[in-house]
Amino acid sequence: DSYKQTDAKFALLGARNVGKSAIAVRFLTKRFIGEYDSTQDSTYQFNSTIDDDQVNLEVLDPGPESVSEPSIGSRALWADGLLLVYSITDRKSFKVVQDLLQFIDPFKQKTVIIVIGNKSDLEHERQVSEGEGASLAEKLKCSFFECSASEGYQKVAEAFHELYREVIKRKKE
Ligand code: GDP
Ligand code: MG
Repeated sequence: DSYKQTDAKFALLGARNVGKSAIAVRFLTKRFIGEYDSTQDSTYQFNSTIDDDQVNLEVLDPGPESVSEPSIGSRALWADGLLLVYSITDRKSFKVVQDLLQFIDPFKQKTVIIVIGNKSDLEHERQVSEGEGASLAEKLKCSFFECSASEGYQKVAEAFHELYREVIKRKKE
């Protein structure tokens, strides 16, 4: 019997090139693989241990982003949790996250969000301060993490784990 219940469905959203695929693959494999085929959506199903629980996860890594309303709406409808990703080296990508919020708004009772500033290893190229990311998250009443998919597993995993906890909490409400 190959049927397994999915405990949580996550989708990554954000501008091109911010590291969505790198984050998904890092969480899934604990590795960093430099380049990814980004011509289509990828959905990963896997088992992970979070807070001593064995959980079944689905992670949707979108292909070339359409940050249009229908595309974001369908992902927000599908997912229990959304990772809104920008790159700290790319101010435009921070704006993209802010711009897509309006399309998520109708789903906010159902879908938990988290803000992620990726590429924190590139401090010398930083365009978005940690404070700016934090205050956006504060405004949205959601969690915020800076991380580096290229540098390590721990911070990336922490973000997914926190999102998982919040999804479970929301489901129980
Ligand atoms: P996506 O379009 O959002 O899926 O972005 P990708 O995951 O394909 O990453 C875009 C580029 O940024 C690739 O060249 C990655 O190797 C690179 N990249 C992704 N995450 C990081 C990171 O944390 N640090 C650095 N320095 N590069 C990264
Ligand atoms: Mg990608």
